[in-house]
Amino acid sequence: MAEAKTVHSPALTYFSMISLLTLCPPFVILLWYTMVHADGSVLQTWDYLKQHGVQGFIDIWPRPTAIAWKLIACYAAFEAALQLFLPGKTVEGPISPCGNRPVYKANGMQAYAVTLITYLSLWWFGIFNPAIVYDHLGEIYSALIFGSLIFCIFLYIKGHVAPSSTDSGSSGNIIIDFYWGMELYPRIGKNFDIKVFTNCRFGMMSWAVLAVTYCIKQYEENGKVADSMLVNTILMLVYVTKFFWWEAGYWNTMDIAHDRAGFYICWGCLVWVPSIYTSPGMYLVNHPVNLGTQLAIYILAAGITCIYINYDCDRQRQEFRRTNGKCLVWGKAPSKIVASYTTTSGETKSSLLLTSGWWGLSRHFHYVPEILAAFFWTVPALFGHFLPYFYVLFLTILLFDRAKRDDDRCRSKYGKYWKKYCEKKMSSYDNVIGGKLKLKGKALDVKAGGVKKKKKHKKQYDQNSEVTENELSADGSTRLSTDPNEEDPNDANKSSGEKNAAPYDDHLTPAERRYIEQREKLDVNRLARISNKSHRDRIQDFNQYLANMSEHYDIPKVGPG
Ligand code: NDP
Repeated sequence: MAEAKTVHSPALTYFSMISLLTLCPPFVILLWYTMVHADGSVLQTWDYLKQHGVQGFIDIWPRPTAIAWKLIACYAAFEAALQLFLPGKTVEGPISPCGNRPVYKANGMQAYAVTLITYLSLWWFGIFNPAIVYDHLGEIYSALIFGSLIFCIFLYIKGHVAPSSTDSGSSGNIIIDFYWGMELYPRIGKNFDIKVFTNCRFGMMSWAVLAVTYCIKQYEENGKVADSMLVNTILMLVYVTKFFWWEAGYWNTMDIAHDRAGFYICWGCLVWVPSIYTSPGMYLVNHPVNLGTQLAIYILAAGITCIYINYDCDRQRQEFRRTNGKCLVWGKAPSKIVASYTTTSGETKSSLLLTSGWWGLSRHFHYVPEILAAFFWTVPALFGHFLPYFYVLFLTILLFDRAKRDDDRCRSKYGKYWKKYCEKKMSSYDNVIGGKLKLKGKALDVKAGGVKKKKKHKKQYDQNSEVTENELSADGSTRLSTDPNEEDPNDANKSSGEKNAAPYDDHLTPAERRYIEQREKLDVNRLARISNKSHRDRIQDFNQYLANMSEHYDIPKVGPG
């Protein structure tokens, strides 16, 4: 799997890799210092650094202490044991570029429950106080930074000397290999999957553990927990619970199925997730804002809604893939494209691309509720300081970059099918919404100009339909839901016009189908017919048509002219 090609230009790729390798570790320490020792104020930290220079920065960087190493080692060993020994269903991941199919034990939810129950019990029964973790947070992050760098070097060497599968290889460039990783599915032995450990059981689990830690620390300090902290902790826990509930689905996402095990994903999950992702809670420990019950409930409800939508987007895509498209999406048979691709070993395979439901709204729509959810668990901190919002900003940049990387990857994987996938949505919207708006704007104008515009639309629509029909005949694999099992269950109730609607219609509502049908009649048959009518009759005809349409669209009703 040699792959020296980069998504962005080589200069930008190297610049961003070197920047992230060198800047992320000190940033983690500066963020911790600002949150815990500088009142969350970037200006205060900036003033300190201005006064004390590099030596000041070295002074605030905590040394990894024995207690920090012990805490990390106990936590890592506990999570590794849960991953290995808790029972769970056997599930298969997606086929890799080299044609391998990884097998996992789906015991994430059990591990999550055992972890939280154990952690809370240790506190409740006075065996271990989680506030200690907060008190040694700087040392823990420092140890994680160095420990994870060493771990990434181990991954690099393992990729060279003992790869676990054929999904491994060098780009020929040491920086790219270290940064992006070499192995897609590195394992220790047959069963211990390293990426499941780093991403899920260490990284994501630490998010929940630290959220609870911050809450307990505030309680230990103040004798109570502010409602802002409660909202923040509940939303983060709901998010992480959703993650573990859906962990087997996560094994189908880019992080696992496409990103190889290197600094980017593994160091990110081992250090960046526990420090940056949890940072709004870290800030709230020393800033117990009181929101009031009503505001707290509104924020909570908005956050949970966003997390649910994000979950539902992921669920929809995975259910669709799992059932091979034989499922309902928003109560209807899904519309889709069957896209074939070639693996690196030369085999031809195919995947289904969902084009209705959340996935019909836009590509990567699910990133919107993801970002909003992060905003809602941060907003209890109100707007006194910028730093708690750093995660929201970071996530927005990360997801934009991710969308671009994914788009490029899918374009090179699926080629013309990806292009059709992108065009399909554009065309549907263009035809339906574009046509509708123009009709609205020219509601009373059936003279030359208005007709020309409609004709232009009709032509464009026909061209699009032709492209699809040609594709259909030339290549069965790009068919759009022609399988009888894939038909809309409501088809029996549709008119023949609706049934014969152009392939782009297959995720339109019945009202939209009727609209297009009517518009076609108007554009072709009726225009020919009415050309023999008087001007008054033509106006009347058209007004009748608009009156019918206004039932479904916001077109003003007009009386006879
Ligand atoms: P996605 O779930 O968006 O999966 C992308 C992959 O899905 C593509 O590579 C392609 O893979 C396949 N695909 C693309 N379009 C379609 C389609 N229309 N129908 C079917 N399959 C399609 O990947 P992410 O990993 O980015 O996101 C997963 C979740 O993780 C999301 O909820 C996201 O918000 C969250 N996330 C959170 C982050 C955080 O830091 N908080 C960071 C990143 C993600 P294939 O090759 O199989 O066709």
